[in-house]
Amino acid sequence: MEKETTHKKRILTGMRPTGKLHLGHYVGALENWLALQNEYECFFLIADYQALGDHLGETERIRNSVIDVVLDWMAVGLDHEKSSFVVQSYIPEYAELFMLLSMFVPLSLVDRNPTLKAEIAQQKKSDVSLGFYNYPVSQAADILLSQAHLVPVGEDQLPHIELTREIVRKFNTIYNTKIFQEPKALIGRIPRLVGIDGQAKASKSLNNAIFLSDSPEEIKAKVKKMYTDPTRIRATDPGHVEGNVVFSYLDAFYNDKSDLKALKERYEKGQIKDVEVKQLLAETLCAFIAPIREKRSYYANNMKEVRRALQEGTERARTVAQKTMTQVRDVMGITKY
Ligand code: ATP
Ligand code: MG
Repeated sequence: MEKETTHKKRILTGMRPTGKLHLGHYVGALENWLALQNEYECFFLIADYQALGDHLGETERIRNSVIDVVLDWMAVGLDHEKSSFVVQSYIPEYAELFMLLSMFVPLSLVDRNPTLKAEIAQQKKSDVSLGFYNYPVSQAADILLSQAHLVPVGEDQLPHIELTREIVRKFNTIYNTKIFQEPKALIGRIPRLVGIDGQAKASKSLNNAIFLSDSPEEIKAKVKKMYTDPTRIRATDPGHVEGNVVFSYLDAFYNDKSDLKALKERYEKGQIKDVEVKQLLAETLCAFIAPIREKRSYYANNMKEVRRALQEGTERARTVAQKTMTQVRDVMGITKY
């Protein structure tokens, strides 16, 4: 069936298949994806090439995570009929454009990328692979191959979108063309959800997250271990809400804002125990995740549908990718020797 999407603006965004998706993905990215899937022609990319940059010896993990990511996407309500789920490695044009765009990027620019710097520090390795170092450029290629207008992402991705915009300007100037346009970033409701251990970002790699597939028991155990206010010894001590992980999660997931305001006031006056606040959070998160987990298990039992979604989405993206690459080779004078 021909998709009625040609008049729509495009979105390209994605995830790395490095594990199951967590609450940070939901409030930082997926929520926007869900809201925009009717309005835009969406390409949701599973960046398996990119994951190899720091998980080279873990091919099994990547393979499993490709499926986990799609299951999580379908579980939260992304619709594979409306949007395209795309496997990066199935479309060689991603690698080709990535290689070409690498030529446009001064090393000093990559060196200054704050997200990359933080991630390299986090890896605690003496040597980071050139592939990992270069992943922001691979993301630029992902976005530009689809000629996307909008990229809904978490805050950590902003420097990569800025890089993409710089590449577009340089490419269009050098080749006196307009084939690429500068994409815009769209940040989620919670730009960066903190880790349950108090680290600045919940992340798959740091294993400091509550996953969209966690059971009620896992959720309760994780909430129990969450950081609260280290200065508070007794429940009657005045507590701090700012920088308190439990309240960061309540801010993100507890819908009754006036109730939450009253709760914060009681906490600040030392009128409520940590354990009570944690119980409220655990209940809130269990209720939020229950329908997602249920839908996930439906799709896990219907793997044919999941694999078909990947195949069909990738085919739609391939058509766009091939068209873009023909234009790129043409303006760069490649294959006309
Ligand atoms: P990894 O640790 O393997 O890099 P990750 O948890 O950072 O995994 P990604 O696949 O790199 O997840 O990110 C996918 C998308 O989710 C990006 O748009 C990213 O900005 C967003 N995202 C990831 N973690 C968070 C978070 N804690 N808060 C808000 N957005 C997030
Ligand atoms: Mg990441």
